[in-house]
Amino acid sequence: MPETVMDKLVSLAKRRGFVFQSSEIYGGLGSVWDYGPLGVELKKNIKERWWRSMVHEREDIEGLDAAILMHPRVWEASGHIAGFTDPLVDCKQCKNRFRADDPRIKGTPGQPDAQCPVCGTKGSLTVARQFNLMFKTFMGPLEEAAAVVYLRPETAQGIYVNYLNVLQSSRQKIPFGIAQIGKAFRNEITPGNFIFRTREFEQMEMQFFVKPGTEVEWFEFWRGERMKWLQGLGIRPEKLRWHQHGQDELAHYAKDAYDIEYEFPFGWQEFEGVHNRTDFDLSNHQRASGKKLEYLDPATNERFLPYVVETSAGADRTALVVLCDAYREEEVEGEKRVVLQFKPSLAPLKAAVFPLVNKDGMPELARRIYDGLRGEFNVFYDDGGSIGRRYRRQDEAGTPFGITVDGQSTQDQTVTVRDRDTLKQERVGAGQLAAYLKAKLAG
Ligand code: ATP
Repeated sequence: MPETVMDKLVSLAKRRGFVFQSSEIYGGLGSVWDYGPLGVELKKNIKERWWRSMVHEREDIEGLDAAILMHPRVWEASGHIAGFTDPLVDCKQCKNRFRADDPRIKGTPGQPDAQCPVCGTKGSLTVARQFNLMFKTFMGPLEEAAAVVYLRPETAQGIYVNYLNVLQSSRQKIPFGIAQIGKAFRNEITPGNFIFRTREFEQMEMQFFVKPGTEVEWFEFWRGERMKWLQGLGIRPEKLRWHQHGQDELAHYAKDAYDIEYEFPFGWQEFEGVHNRTDFDLSNHQRASGKKLEYLDPATNERFLPYVVETSAGADRTALVVLCDAYREEEVEGEKRVVLQFKPSLAPLKAAVFPLVNKDGMPELARRIYDGLRGEFNVFYDDGGSIGRRYRRQDEAGTPFGITVDGQSTQDQTVTVRDRDTLKQERVGAGQLAAYLKAKLAG
């Protein structure tokens, strides 16, 4: 089979230290991935950018970091125990399991005409049954039903149960929001496509609490903000589109929902959602906990349960969008070049410093430049192999600038700076490099 773009991206991600399979030396763990030195920087840059725009740049949003483990009654009240399920079918012949809505299945599972997409047997698929996606574990030393706790399948519930704590301690007034970045876990039936659908992942979620009756307006506002933010990551606008959920697609908590989709190499798929969750979650928690979660409007003395507009993004899926969008294969002077054209502010490494050759004072000067930049920028020092090979390694890492110390540098303290995308080189004074990089990395 020919190598697909995804195959190439997965192998580049491993080769350059973006993403490794979890527990690879033991054969890997299904759909769990580890971020290597460059991957952790890329994901951190995305998360920091999200946090800055959601929390630091807005007066009306507060941050939160709730625990992964929560009281099991949270998941009863939120509807996840009853409703966070996917329809599962088994093949009695080859024992594989599928989501009943897997597009590869021909016919209706449970009927004689239905065909297993793996072994091809007809009539071997069971009738669909509901499979809960939450991971269970036990709290304390006894493995008994009373000790069951769940790994959260979304970060949102940690926000709802803390909404009054945050409101009171921060002295916010409605409308206001709470933002959180954290791990979530889903025992997906058919995970796949690299870091697109995994069993452990990170979400960047913001719940915006508004007065009932104003939620549609806020919903539209947040749709606009999220699209602007994504375009600010440098993602090509023609690769992004909205998809409104039809009645049959809406999650159990949502009244209206829009996905933001990206055209991945495997097709258009969701990676972020904006949801109108009404007062579904707060009213359920109010009922189940017996605690009043109403807001008292100081201006009008009105009491009401706020409505919630949620923006929910996966940090890993966003990282995959950024990786896919940056990936280019080009021909440069008759040679193939693979390059990740990240927006410079998102790139894991901002610059690499190279002595042209390892003699004549060049390594010493290059080291001094590297040491001077290191405190402020994530930079890399490389003196191994030909300069062309070193450039190509950094192209694959997506490093926007290559700083080369050559024979002239030791004479006049200037270096060449190579631009990853245009391949143009300019001479810059060694003392001006920090200011040069800062200007280029803005935005
Ligand atoms: P899907 O339909 O792909 O399963 P979803 O509609 O269940 O996703 P939400 O519950 O809205 O997703 O979750 C919000 C975001 O969390 C998604 O847009 C995605 O970026 C991320 N996400 C959800 N499930 C996964 C997963 N299994 N792996 C990686 N990211 C995920």
